[in-house]
Amino acid sequence: MKSIKGQGQANCPNGCEPFDAEFWTLIRGDQDTELKAALLGGELNLLRCPECETFFYHDRNFIYFDPSIELLALVSPKADKKDFDKIKTQMQKDFKLLKDNMTSLSIDYDPFYLAGLEELKAMLEYEEHITQESEVIAAYAAEKGYKIAALKRYGARLKGYPFYIPVDGGDYNAASVLSAAREILKINPSWHLLTALEKDLKAGKPLPEKI
Ligand SMILES: [Zn+2]
Repeated sequence: MKSIKGQGQANCPNGCEPFDAEFWTLIRGDQDTELKAALLGGELNLLRCPECETFFYHDRNFIYFDPSIELLALVSPKADKKDFDKIKTQMQKDFKLLKDNMTSLSIDYDPFYLAGLEELKAMLEYEEHITQESEVIAAYAAEKGYKIAALKRYGARLKGYPFYIPVDGGDYNAASVLSAAREILKINPSWHLLTALEKDLKAGKPLPEKI
């Protein structure tokens, strides 16, 4: 499924005559890097009233979807925090429809329900930050001769783990990951994602699922 554009009535915040406008309802973050860039730059679904020339965002909900990193977000651009429970119920229905129509993608992770473009922007920026830190950890681990395991993104993201983790030896188990993580943390103890993993494994929590 590709990015989808819709068309519908837009209402200027200044109460001008409503007008017809195009807007994106589904953004495939993995396929449409231009749309992703527009989103991060604050230009996605940005409209200009033909009457008073005010710029404003279309208020229709949209979906941001990047199956390559198991990231699915339903976004309500103008959600009032007070009414968000009601809006969320509608979004959950929308998601069920979407999921039923995309069985080929086998989505086995939950969506995020976001109130506002800023929340999505912050989430994507944080994702970028985690990815970079994970890549640095992987580079150091490879240099030390460790194997690298790529974790399933959704679970790693929720737990605050790196997306790539070092493994000491051939077997992927808690002992081999813990041993490698401790060595890598000696290089830089402030890698908080790896520290979180090390702490959890030490406490006997389950090993995260890898790809
Ligand atoms: Zn206007």
